[in-house]
Amino acid sequence: MSRRQIAMVMDLNKCIGCQTCTTACKTQWTNRSGREYMYWNNVETLPGRGYPANWQDSGGGFDAAGNLRPGRIPNLERDYGMPVELNYSKALGPLGGRQFGRNAEAPSSFDDGRPPLAPVIKPKGGPNWDEDTGAGEYSNSYYFYLPRICNHCTNPPCLQACPRKAIYKREEDGIVLIDQDRCRGYQHCVAACPYKKIYFNPLRGKSEKCIFCYPRIEQGLSTACAQQCVGRIRFVGYLDDEESPVHQLVKKWKVALPLHAEYGTEPNVYYVPPLSPPKYDSEGRLTDQRRIPDEYLIGLFGPLVPGVLQTLLEERDKQRRGEGSELLDILIAYRHEEMFTLDADYYRRGDQASAAALARTPSSAGASQSECAGMMSHAAQSGGAIPAVLDARLQQRLNNLQVAAGNGGGDDGAA
Ligand code: SF4
Ligand code: SF4
Repeated sequence: MSRRQIAMVMDLNKCIGCQTCTTACKTQWTNRSGREYMYWNNVETLPGRGYPANWQDSGGGFDAAGNLRPGRIPNLERDYGMPVELNYSKALGPLGGRQFGRNAEAPSSFDDGRPPLAPVIKPKGGPNWDEDTGAGEYSNSYYFYLPRICNHCTNPPCLQACPRKAIYKREEDGIVLIDQDRCRGYQHCVAACPYKKIYFNPLRGKSEKCIFCYPRIEQGLSTACAQQCVGRIRFVGYLDDEESPVHQLVKKWKVALPLHAEYGTEPNVYYVPPLSPPKYDSEGRLTDQRRIPDEYLIGLFGPLVPGVLQTLLEERDKQRRGEGSELLDILIAYRHEEMFTLDADYYRRGDQASAAALARTPSSAGASQSECAGMMSHAAQSGGAIPAVLDARLQQRLNNLQVAAGNGGGDDGAA
């Protein structure tokens, strides 16, 4: 148990599925080779298969007795989808359309026999593959967006499954990180995480994951995904801070619920479940049934969902009557900065324990600050280009490692 726990609340009534958060995270942390398929933050359309495909059926987490449940490691081609490489040079000319300087040959039209810009290999799946598909029959069809990051669980099975003890939970704020020096890439953590929020980097032979932007958090800044969120759906703060909207939504109003609490990991990302418009009957008249079935939302966020939706409706009605609603004022988030209650001084002050923990993080997190600087210089050297997709050799290596992990690769005894 950490001394404090940082947490995030996402209001699903406000997410517009724009993927700005996904891009903010991708450009900040994972736009380097070996990470093409990684989305530490992804936004999926539900009902849908999600990313990686069918992660909700991939096992992991804990059983009712508190034992680790077996889980599977997703396959790159089948579950993540091969990262897409576009035929830039064929479609846009010798410079691949990436740099059109004064002397560069810029394409003028596509009527010179060149093909249109398209993927080199026809993709069969990938992140956001079933965007806006949803479920139900017109005119009662429905869908909503579910943004996902690592839940920085209070009881993380990824940590328990690692035979190298490479995964740790920070004492000062509960952020879960992978010590890159200790990780040997066995991927037991990937199998154990029921949310499939750990990714294997085949180039480095290490597992990597969301780091809750800890270098920003320590400066009192919110995570990149929350800071950039267009819909202002994300609140960030410490669960024990009564002034924080996170505390108020989770503990006081109890309208923010964890995703799949039954996995037993005690997630620290919470969701305000989505309301939906009423259904039509066969005559086209509005009914009193919600379009998104309560049973579906209960399957995600647990049995408290109907009560939460009722609270949201009652508070909305109060607001409409002009009586005002403290809850809606929080959820509307009139002032962006009030969505984040962070404390740089807390990290600066620290006590002996947190000072020791802080000394450990810069070289040991999933992507350290120095690594981030390396990424920036890599991007600068390559003209900001996103690295090429995995070649066949790397894919083979990834497959081999997955087989090895499945065959019980364990601690090799190295310190
Ligand atoms: S969401 Fe997965 S990776 Fe993150 S702490 Fe929980 S079990 Fe570990
Ligand atoms: S940036 Fe915000 S609104 Fe846009 S997809 Fe991400 S969580 Fe949703």
